[in-house]
Amino acid sequence: MLDLASLTDLLTKPQKIVITTHHKPDGDAMGSSLGLYNYLIQQGHHARVIAPTDYPDFLSWLPGNENVIIYTEHREEAAALIADAKLIFCLDFNALSRINDMGELVGESNAYKIMIDHHLEPADFDDYRHWDINACATAQLVYDFIVNQLHHKELVNKNVATCLYTGIMTDSASFRLPNTTSGVHRIVADLIDAGAVNWRIHELVYNSASENRLRFLGHCLANCLEVLPEFNTAIIAVNKHDLERFDVETGDTEGVVNYALSMASIRLAAFIVERSDRVKLSLRSKGEFPANEICKKYFNGGGHRNAAGGHSEGSLEQVIQQFKQILPEYKKLLIQ
Ligand code: 5GP
Ligand code: MN
Repeated sequence: MLDLASLTDLLTKPQKIVITTHHKPDGDAMGSSLGLYNYLIQQGHHARVIAPTDYPDFLSWLPGNENVIIYTEHREEAAALIADAKLIFCLDFNALSRINDMGELVGESNAYKIMIDHHLEPADFDDYRHWDINACATAQLVYDFIVNQLHHKELVNKNVATCLYTGIMTDSASFRLPNTTSGVHRIVADLIDAGAVNWRIHELVYNSASENRLRFLGHCLANCLEVLPEFNTAIIAVNKHDLERFDVETGDTEGVVNYALSMASIRLAAFIVERSDRVKLSLRSKGEFPANEICKKYFNGGGHRNAAGGHSEGSLEQVIQQFKQILPEYKKLLIQ
């Protein structure tokens, strides 16, 4: 294990550092990783962000993105960086299975592993942990780590602030979820003071859709939405032909599930998609309903109470049926 004093000491000298995050990185995964990257490079560290897989284009404008390595596209280079690293920061995930094949390389490496995360039930693979499930985003914890643990508020420059703002904005569903406390708003205010241009970041992330993405969304809502009023639940299920027909790219399915949840009576929404290798589920819920419990118990997944995900090796139809069969178990919570 590593204590804060030893970690701080290590970081006073330039080190070889890898920053990694969960597969199919989202705004918090990339925002927190690049926020930390932009902080570390100011101190002369040789830092690289390695993403296990590709990620949506609406994140490719983030400062530092040009230096990100995508593992599936540059395996050897990534493996060499991991093997050579003195420190590996593991951001926005809590088990090595969340970084696919990279998990083995990170597990075998002699580097100190530093977990910064807000997911429930972290696995025991790290040497130092800055972890809080009450944080609305890992980017919030990176801010706390830099400002309150390393005492480097002056190094939160425009690039750091822009990345961390993006992480907090996306993971808090634009400052809407219950964990968006007054403290989060104070951090966000600091980030704006440090140079994050809030309105521009919203534009870049939320107003950057392609025509295909909009037509795909229309198709999902008009043709793929099923409402189950007896369970206050809505399902959007999409098969692989739909994905091909609308030329759906990484990121185009992001957020579709929120439209199902936006109906007044709906407490639980599911987006079920037939990907090439397996069926993926995204669940979103309102209030106390534990979406992560369903993902963990039935779909090899997990996540947060109001936003969780999982997958299944079954067919799309089987997964839809299985999901419907689970609902009676949760009826009380769904209709209260
Ligand atoms: P999404 O529905 O956007 O893919 O995921 C929502 C949240 O659920 C993510 O932030 C992540 O915390 C969690 N999640 C999604 N897929 C998985 C999975 O396969 N395993 C685990 N443990 N968590 C997941
Ligand atoms: Mn997150």
